[in-house]
Amino acid sequence: MPLQPPVLLDGKQLAQQMQDALAQKIQHLLPQVGRPPGLAVLMVGDNPASAAYVRNKERACERVGIASFGHHFPADVSQAELTQVIHQLNADERVDGILVQLPLPNHLDAEALLYEILPEKDADGLHPMNLGRLVRKEPGLKSCTPAGVMRLLEQYQLSPQGKHAVVIGRSILVGKPIALMLLDANATVTMAHSKTPDLKATVLAADIVVAAVGQPNLITADMVKPGAIVIDVGINRVQDESGKARLVGDVDFANVQPRSSYITPVPGGVGAMTVAMLLENTTWSYCQRCKASYNDETPTQR
Ligand code: NAD
Repeated sequence: MPLQPPVLLDGKQLAQQMQDALAQKIQHLLPQVGRPPGLAVLMVGDNPASAAYVRNKERACERVGIASFGHHFPADVSQAELTQVIHQLNADERVDGILVQLPLPNHLDAEALLYEILPEKDADGLHPMNLGRLVRKEPGLKSCTPAGVMRLLEQYQLSPQGKHAVVIGRSILVGKPIALMLLDANATVTMAHSKTPDLKATVLAADIVVAAVGQPNLITADMVKPGAIVIDVGINRVQDESGKARLVGDVDFANVQPRSSYITPVPGGVGAMTVAMLLENTTWSYCQRCKASYNDETPTQR
């Protein structure tokens, strides 16, 4: 049977819809709570990619009515100073979400800092308490990128149930939580990583491929089963022949797209969803902390 033309999973459009809905929700809650939700983003150093992500997040906050409490530190800031600022933000009633923009310079211990964030203000869902809740299938703040991938699948009514999902990459930020979420959605999940002996054979078995590595063109057309759903989480900055920088994912999009049934573009796929989920997490925390009703009419369970 001939394959249907591949469908682009439009994260940008869905993220926009989610932001519109959040803006309405926040406007509705404002008189009840007496203040807007607040998100504090901690950024260290001048990494241009991180700076662009932080700007993006702050602009998105402004669009939906979330107050931003940005903190920008020099690259040589100490662990003790960052810890102290996190403690102040934990105690600040105006702040519902705290996020440390990763990666951090080598002299800083990111995991130790994540422990310092109050679990109920952990906007990125990376505190051990929230990761533990994910393992136990309890409500809590969920890691934004994996939650964004699940929301995108839901939007296109792509149920993972009964499908074989292969997740490439095993980080705490993306690979492990997305594997758990797919498992909870009744997929059969395989995790591949840098030590997987035959990546091609592993990926070829997948009905759903999730690439979260950080290597352009790692996933080529000959690795993808015809009709597979392909989710490209990778964000890589490359230069084209004219020397201009552009963003690509981990998937050789031009050649993989024709073999896929659904595929995310980069940019405009998972990245946009990550920001929308961050705003949603912050608003959810705000509602929990202020005992306001989140009134979540979207299908994703927390
Ligand atoms: P990471 O460096 O922490 O993890 C990369 C993973 O890839 C590791 O688990 C490693 O085992 C695996 N890996 C490395 N080389 C491999 C190979 N040749 N074959 C198979 N697996 C290999 O990275 P991360 O933080 O998980 O991020 C992964 C990618 O996702 C990066 O490009 C990052 O920029 C991107 N990212 C995107 C978003 C988004 O919103 N779209 C959010 C977070 C991260």
